[in-house]
Amino acid sequence: MDARISSHMFKNAVIAGVTSTGSDVVDLGLIPTPALQYYIKINPKIPGGIVVTASHNPKEYNGIKFIQDDGREFTREMDEESERMYKNKTYRIASWQDVGQVYTEDCKRLYIDGIKEKVDADAIAAKSFKVVVDCGNGACCVTSPQLLKELGCAVVSINAHPDGRFPARNPEPVEENVEQLKNVVAETNANLGVAHDGDADRATFVDEKGRFVSEDVILALMAKYYVENSGGGVVVTPVSSSRCVEDAVKAAGGEVVYTPVGSPVVAETMLKTRAVFGGEGNGGLIFPEHLLARDGAMSAAKILELMALEGKPLSELVKDIPKYHTIKTKVPCRDKLKLLKGLKEEFPEANFADGARIDYEDGWLLIRPSGTEPIARIFAEGKTESRAKELLEIGMKAVKRILG
Ligand code: MG
Repeated sequence: MDARISSHMFKNAVIAGVTSTGSDVVDLGLIPTPALQYYIKINPKIPGGIVVTASHNPKEYNGIKFIQDDGREFTREMDEESERMYKNKTYRIASWQDVGQVYTEDCKRLYIDGIKEKVDADAIAAKSFKVVVDCGNGACCVTSPQLLKELGCAVVSINAHPDGRFPARNPEPVEENVEQLKNVVAETNANLGVAHDGDADRATFVDEKGRFVSEDVILALMAKYYVENSGGGVVVTPVSSSRCVEDAVKAAGGEVVYTPVGSPVVAETMLKTRAVFGGEGNGGLIFPEHLLARDGAMSAAKILELMALEGKPLSELVKDIPKYHTIKTKVPCRDKLKLLKGLKEEFPEANFADGARIDYEDGWLLIRPSGTEPIARIFAEGKTESRAKELLEIGMKAVKRILG
């Protein structure tokens, strides 16, 4: 579970439910989501897991997330199937002598060692980096500062006690929520700043000058690093990701495969395409040799490895990543099917993995009906701000024409 006020309550309900079916439960306590996923992946006898977390969402939220036997998140189809089983009551109820038992285990050591094994720990240690980590009072408090210390870094931890009231900042590590981290990195002359979301499957970064580095740029940088090291290969990312990812991957001799939005489908596609790397443009990076799921602590360790091996600060490393301007808007859309049909006629060349992504020489446009609200979202990205505005205009006009 994560550090939320209601997580104990939900965890106990989950344990009661699971044991009532006759299955045993290993209670891992407060840990990041990827630590639980890694524990399941390397324990072949454990067929799955459940995390009580609301990830990056505000403090009043909570939820439960299901994990497959290889550590991946449940796919949408699997989630739908478990909801059907719950509604139709097609699950087993154990008799009194078969009710499951509860064990506790500490998986933090296993997780930290699992990450240290997959990075060049000696190269990182040789640099004696100073790193500021903003735990945001989330689940990473119990692992990230320790991992960074064991990698030989001088660690400055802020907001590093678990507190489900999130007194310091909103759990989502977007730029407007990490002003404090930017200041502390600048004031302490640190080499890097890292911020996690509430369950630490995401990480965002601040360079040695105290400037936030966009999540898309980090995704592109890491994708390029993996493609270069693998001598090519596939990188998987959702259609909503910045074009800077494709530019960086192609320049390094790799290929991008786009998926619908959502991390489970990125992981599933990575498995199918034997991808060398994947991730979302929100700080959720997936390192397949480690885990087919997003991992914030692993992201931090890999950024340090890249800085150590290249001998360059983060601000230098991201200099080669192409810059784009992004703008977005939303328009009313009550007829999702009509919009999609119209988009297929209007833009037959587009990628229809999720809505329509139309790529141009110097930018792209994504028109995507919302799954939960009667709106369509339009994203546009261009080399210049005026080009992004132009593309957004093309998208808005197309939607108006189609929906009348
Ligand atoms: Mg999360």
